[in-house]
Amino acid sequence: MALMITDECINCDVCEPECPNDAISMGESIYVIDPARCTQCVGHFGEPQCVQVCPVECIPVDPDHVETEAQLQQKYIQLVALATLHKPR
Ligand code: SF4
Ligand code: SF4
Repeated sequence: MALMITDECINCDVCEPECPNDAISMGESIYVIDPARCTQCVGHFGEPQCVQVCPVECIPVDPDHVETEAQLQQKYIQLVALATLHKPR
């Protein structure tokens, strides 16, 4: 499952640099998570890093993006492969 940021976000800027997948960015009014890039930190960390640092606990699981651990692992592998492909030589 990808995670999502609710409208309780106070735009404290803390989570964005913690995401190992660059999945977090500033949206129209609050930060947003790109579900295509969020692996719930699978492949990088044991716990979702954004959840660990968010001071207002506004990052729940996104019910519209339910994925198994295996699917998250697969997403991680694809993101790493893409990053390798686009790395400047
Ligand atoms: Fe990024 Fe991990 Fe948070 Fe997903 S759970 S948005 S991968 S820090
Ligand atoms: Fe919003 Fe929480 Fe991220 Fe701060 S850490 S910007 S409150 S989602």
